[in-house]
Amino acid sequence: MISRFAVMGNPVAHSLSPLIHQSFAQQTQKILTYETMLVEEDEFEEQVSAFFRQHGKGLNVTSPFKQRAFAMATRVTARCKKAGAANTLWVAEHRLWADNTDGVGLINDLNRHIELPDKRILIVGAGGAARGIISPLLDSKPASLTVVCRNDDKAQVLRRDFPHILCARMAEVSGPFDLIINATSASILGEDLLIPQEVLVSKPFCYDLAYQLNNATPFVRYAKSFSCAAVDGLGMLVEQAAEAFYLWHGVKPFTEQVLMQLRLI
Ligand code: NDP
Repeated sequence: MISRFAVMGNPVAHSLSPLIHQSFAQQTQKILTYETMLVEEDEFEEQVSAFFRQHGKGLNVTSPFKQRAFAMATRVTARCKKAGAANTLWVAEHRLWADNTDGVGLINDLNRHIELPDKRILIVGAGGAARGIISPLLDSKPASLTVVCRNDDKAQVLRRDFPHILCARMAEVSGPFDLIINATSASILGEDLLIPQEVLVSKPFCYDLAYQLNNATPFVRYAKSFSCAAVDGLGMLVEQAAEAFYLWHGVKPFTEQVLMQLRLI
């Protein structure tokens, strides 16, 4: 039987995961299907259970379901536990396992661009993706790590879960910073991301977790208008997928070629 994989989210039609996993499969001579599954807000748990009941082998989970995927799992990896959010699910020995590969994906891609130790880092946004990258960034020994969170309840939970970070509202942040990471869903939602000009004048390296084929994302354009070096999250997307592929298939695919192919689309 051909192994079945999928990504669930809402929205999810934009996902490049099917393309990436099929490229990895071709490279490693695996035969599999990988589909996108649009899931309604109140149907996530039911859809996950049905997927694995119907012999699904592995599931990626994207916004806004990462915390719910974590809550569903009966076994979680150490890094997933720290994140409190999951993007990769599979079943082993009748247990639902969860991991979070966003953090390692980001670090692997950032290593292409900058040296991480001793950096003053600002993360804007406090959703599932932000939770997945905080611990791996702390492990890289930054000088400081500040998270901008506009929701007071979420800020309280973040301070509890990650005592080594600073948590602030955007208006309270002044910098300077060496690295700014946009972890908001503003561009997907078509909303403005109000990052004050003051934090960009010291020309920090800017990284947008969001990505767009053919076009720079709004945050990358904004950062470049201040002459900051800036990249989008396509590299992270490929790296986090490679880690999920490794978890499911036990083989680590090469990422550079896949990333180059996506940049040419
Ligand atoms: P979530 O929906 O879980 O969280 C989004 C966060 O963004 C929330 O904290 C939300 O605040 C905040 N936010 C949304 N709009 C604005 C705005 N206009 N101004 C300030 N804050 C805002 O999404 P994820 O964390 O899963 O994903 C975030 C982004 O990261 C998405 O663009 C996603 O595509 C990208 N991503 C990329 C990956 C990659 O591999 N490149 C991997 C994972 C995610 P509030 O809670 O108050 O609404």
